[in-house]
Amino acid sequence: MEQNNEAFNLDRNMKVHNFNAGPSILPNEVLYKASKALIDFEGSGMSILEIGHRTPPFVAVIEEARSLVRELMQLEDDFEVLFLHGGASTQFLTIPMNLLESGETAAYTDTGVWSSKAIKEAKLFGYVDVVSSSKDRNYNFIPKDFTVPPQAKYLHITTNNTIYGTQWHHIPETDVPLVADMSSDILSRSMDFNKFALIYGGVQKNMGAAGATVVAVRKSILGKVTRNIPSMLDYRVHIDNASMFNTPPVFAVYISMLTLRWLKAQGGVAAIEKINDRKAALLYGEIDENPLFRGTVVKEDRSKMNVCFIMDKPELEEEFLKFTKKEDIVGIKGHRSVGGFRASIYNALPLDSVEVMVEAMKYFSMKKA
Ligand SMILES: *Cc1c(COP(=O)(O)O)cnc(C)c1O
Repeated sequence: MEQNNEAFNLDRNMKVHNFNAGPSILPNEVLYKASKALIDFEGSGMSILEIGHRTPPFVAVIEEARSLVRELMQLEDDFEVLFLHGGASTQFLTIPMNLLESGETAAYTDTGVWSSKAIKEAKLFGYVDVVSSSKDRNYNFIPKDFTVPPQAKYLHITTNNTIYGTQWHHIPETDVPLVADMSSDILSRSMDFNKFALIYGGVQKNMGAAGATVVAVRKSILGKVTRNIPSMLDYRVHIDNASMFNTPPVFAVYISMLTLRWLKAQGGVAAIEKINDRKAALLYGEIDENPLFRGTVVKEDRSKMNVCFIMDKPELEEEFLKFTKKEDIVGIKGHRSVGGFRASIYNALPLDSVEVMVEAMKYFSMKKA
């Protein structure tokens, strides 16, 4: 994952180590190409923001983005890939609206803020059976021990819990269609994506810029509810219109397409997973070894995307933040519901940023010893 910074001549401070949780770091190469396209898209004399979304150059962009998702996830033909508006938060309601008849039941696991928001929306459309929850332990583990009622229309999981730093490392086996919010770990690790019936995510964490939402849905699960679905919220309408029912979020889709191209050039999901594993091992290794720091979640459920940790001496936290800021480490302040620190180490974050972070932790701890 070498990024040749000189080659891209980006006019910004290249030393910054960006651990933001989302929106978050993008590959330099993507930003460079996008900045050119903002002025002159493929030599057309027009910005990508100035061309019609139904013109062949943009249709080619969205089609490439859709097919790269399909290719990188190795999705079966039954899947359709869409780029929609409204963020993952709109999917919280679109999913039950399309899949859950009123009076029917959907099963949800409650593993954090995002899944509880998904649960809240689903309740507007049918019964929700919360089959497991780690809420009473501040979501510091993945509650894996549960059974899904056989009549459930689907089981919903949040594969990676961005705020609490937990992740499902084994996808639960179930006989009902599996629906997953993958906003913060999409395309970060290999898995059998065909085990799912619907996968969705805001793209601004791991595969692009805010404004687009990716949905991969099996056609065979649609069209089974009787309610009237508004066109903009009906997956079948978007499928029939090749993800162009209305004006798509053009620039966000373009950034995703470039990010997907970049990921493919890195060797795809399996290759990025190796690097992601190294980054996570390095950072958790330091957290476990360094007497000043402590992880906040149970080890077997640790996220390889969002690493949450605190200090045993909370009075040092401010000082550590100031110190890391001087080292150009950005975005590590923890979410208010966990406190401490959260380092998001998404696909685009280079290994050397994690090395700098670990060095900073070692140095700070040495000074304090
Ligand atoms: C960020 C995030 C969301 C919210 O996404 P929006 O695009 O802002 O609606 C939902 N789920 C997870 C897991 C997230 O990390």
